Parts: sequence; structure tokens; C-alpha cells
Amino acid sequence: MATRRKFILQSAQVTAGLTLIPDFLKAAPVVGPSGEIDYTQHPLEYTYSALEPYIDTMTMEIHYSKHAAGYAKNMMDAIGAEKVDMTKTPITDLLSQVSKYSVKLRNNAGGHYNHEFFWRSLRAPRTFNMPDDKLMKRFQESFGSFNAFQTQFTEVAKSRFGSGWAWLVGDKGKLSVGSTPNQDNPLMDVSELKGLPLLGLDVWEHAYYLKYQNRRADYISSFWSIVNWDRVAERFNYC
Ligand code: MN
Repeated sequence: MATRRKFILQSAQVTAGLTLIPDFLKAAPVVGPSGEIDYTQHPLEYTYSALEPYIDTMTMEIHYSKHAAGYAKNMMDAIGAEKVDMTKTPITDLLSQVSKYSVKLRNNAGGHYNHEFFWRSLRAPRTFNMPDDKLMKRFQESFGSFNAFQTQFTEVAKSRFGSGWAWLVGDKGKLSVGSTPNQDNPLMDVSELKGLPLLGLDVWEHAYYLKYQNRRADYISSFWSIVNWDRVAERFNYC
């Protein structure tokens, strides 16, 4: 944990001075193992069209370049106004004490973190897309089976009223699922659901409406084809 925290701090210091990189196609490394998240909107690890047909190109473009970019910008405005020292405060620390800050900072730091997390939870569709044996064993221990996990996750994602997120979280090796409203997440002190986020699904309408309209269940079902299980497994090593 100490090494990880040090790494987060260092990466926050390194990237705090960088400007946003709007050119998503530019090949740039994602910071850190398991795609550590800082205060910068990083380029996607794939093109807008890479997740077709499960998530369409236009949804990805608008979602990344408008919605997520907006959260990042508004977060920086709030950070400036509320005098958060980004070099001393990794974003995970800010989120863990978010009740000390404004609603604007809560919504936008949450929005920024959640989207950076979400993009890195996905990858281009593959024929075989399942967790490795080690992670599979964890699903069996925590939920009975991988299938039971998927059913529970799907249920919480479908039943989250209005806008929010569905999560797989880990706490001391134990996995569980739950959801958060708006742009809250399980790292926040204000969140009912707590734990280290391992997988997240954006169930705001802006994430699926262009392709799926009101059919959130179809969007959730498509999500399983593009989950980056290697990333989930990497994250699991920290909990
Ligand atoms: Mn979104």
C-alpha cells in the first residue's frame, strides 16, 4: 500500500503540470499500473470506434470529448476555487474526504474519476473474454459462481434509479456489487457502498441512449463483451 500511495503521489506530481491532451488518437501511455487515475483526462487507450458494435462511435466521441471533458474542466475550476493542493492530495484522497468540499467538487471529481476508471475498464471485443483462473476463483468464493456475479451486477445496474454507476468492489479480498447515485463512487466518504472499485459501469442515459434508447438492459448485456478483465485482475491485487 505504501508503494502504491507513493506512486500515486508521484504520478499526480508529474501530470499536474500537463495540459489536457484532446487528441485521443495520439498514442500515449496511460499512467501507472492498473491505469492509475490522477487529475488529468488521459487519452483513451483505443479509438472511438474500437468498442463497436457494443458501444457506438458517436456515443464514445460525445461521452469522452464532451461529458467526461466537462467533468475534468469543472473539477479543475472547483479545485482552484477551493485551493486543493493537487501535488499533496492524490485524487483518491480527495474522494475519500469529499464531504469536506463543495457539491460541485464532489460531482465533478467523481465524474472525472469515474470516467477515467470506466474507459480503462473496457477494451475492444474479443472472442474469448473471461477473467483468468485466479480472479474466477474469487468470483466463485464471493458469489458462488461467475454467472451469479454477472446476474447480481446486471440487477444493480438495471435497478439504479435515474443516473449513476454499478460497481464491483473489493475489500480485503472479498468481492461485492452495488451502485452509487449521480457521480458518487465507492471511494467517497459519503457513499453507502464502500470498497476499492474493480469494475464500474456508467448507467447514465448519456452512456447508451444514442444506440440503445431506453433499453438499459441491452446496454448492460453488451458491456460483458468489452470488459477488460486483465485490468480488473490488476486492480484486484490492491485489495
Ligand atoms: Mn458518463
